[in-house]
Amino acid sequence: MSDYQLDTNCVHGGYTAGNGEPRNFPIVQSTTFRYATGAAMGALFDLEKEGYFYTRLQNPTNDHVAAKICALEGGTAAMLTSSGQAASFYAMFNICSAGDHVVSSSSIYGGTYNLFAVTMKRMGIDFTFVEADCTPEELDAAFRPNTKAVFGETIANPALTVLDIEKFAAAAHAHGVPLIVDNTFPTPVNCRPFEWGADIVTHSTTKYMDGHAAAVGGAIVDSGKFDWTQYPDKYPGLTTPDESYHGVTYTERFGLGGAFITKATAQLMRDFGSIPAPMNAFLLGLGLETLHLRVPRHCENALKAAQFLKHSDKVSWIRYPGLPDDPCYEIARKYMPKGTCGVVSFGVKGGRAGAEKFMAGLKLASIATHVADAKTCVLHPASTTHRQMNDAELAAAGVSPDLVRLSVGIEDIGDILRDLEQALATV
Ligand code: PLP
Repeated sequence: MSDYQLDTNCVHGGYTAGNGEPRNFPIVQSTTFRYATGAAMGALFDLEKEGYFYTRLQNPTNDHVAAKICALEGGTAAMLTSSGQAASFYAMFNICSAGDHVVSSSSIYGGTYNLFAVTMKRMGIDFTFVEADCTPEELDAAFRPNTKAVFGETIANPALTVLDIEKFAAAAHAHGVPLIVDNTFPTPVNCRPFEWGADIVTHSTTKYMDGHAAAVGGAIVDSGKFDWTQYPDKYPGLTTPDESYHGVTYTERFGLGGAFITKATAQLMRDFGSIPAPMNAFLLGLGLETLHLRVPRHCENALKAAQFLKHSDKVSWIRYPGLPDDPCYEIARKYMPKGTCGVVSFGVKGGRAGAEKFMAGLKLASIATHVADAKTCVLHPASTTHRQMNDAELAAAGVSPDLVRLSVGIEDIGDILRDLEQALATV
């Protein structure tokens, strides 16, 4: 499949129906799989044979959708998780444990920031947050001898800063650690981080990939390029026998292409169990079939909405990396020449009160804790998703009290603009 272009992989990736088989991969709604002998099933437990035995570890529907996402990102292996949060956690915890350290861009989704700075810190993992536009020297200075990974978001939610993937990858590799990139906002339609040096990609598939706000989900994709065996002291979990899984050494048994995802499945999915329901994976698979059509339309509409907002006297500032005077315009053109995303952040005059009045005046766009689905929606992060942050943390994440995040859908752009105009008139 991966020989095909991205558009074809959106439609066909991950599954080819055999003679007389369903063209849509079926929803395998079964917790368990039957075997004739204990020995036959035992070979699966020993990872000696491939096959299904329990859906918490693997399920055919989930695997086919993971394979589609793997093809879209150009990776070697992928897995689905029940949410984007689980994907971020698994990707990190697969190679970090108590006593380790991670360098992360501070311009990331609030939930990821909380996962890292609060919850994983309680697990004994330390994070140093750096500005996305830090100098290479500042980035270099953030590393410690126990640093195990670098993390960033291709386009940060909701700050909309664009990650300089090459800069972060160079620093990560100079220190012998992988770069993990959350590619939720651009999706592989607009950016494929592996082509710029990223090693692992994560997704909240809840967003554009699903595209219809139907199912929460996540994905992790491995590029297979990071050579864990070069740093056996740093990554013993991948390069030495796993006593909790029949003494398997993941890099030996599954190679660089398969080690990371197999370990995350065999250990983390086994122990934490954040699998998506096969029904949700099926819905995600359906959404992915039109990803290449929807994402350009989101970007086209968002650019028009951003141009409109920029000229409104009710708007105090605007961030959209597709606007030529946006601070990230040039870097976005480098990494995402076809377009960025459908999300626009802006400040409504009158601060917090102005933002709330504007949102209450919207008719077509709904107020929703969501972005990146077919229907236009808005959110005021300071009073919702980012409310756990203090002012300094908000500022570091690029979120101001008046910030409204507008997720531009795929409706008629005239209707979207008229809705924005009448709601701004109420401010
Ligand atoms: N990463 C990004 C960029 C997000 O925007 C989100 C959610 O908004 C997440 C991760 C977390 O994903 P989920 O809500 O699917 O757990």
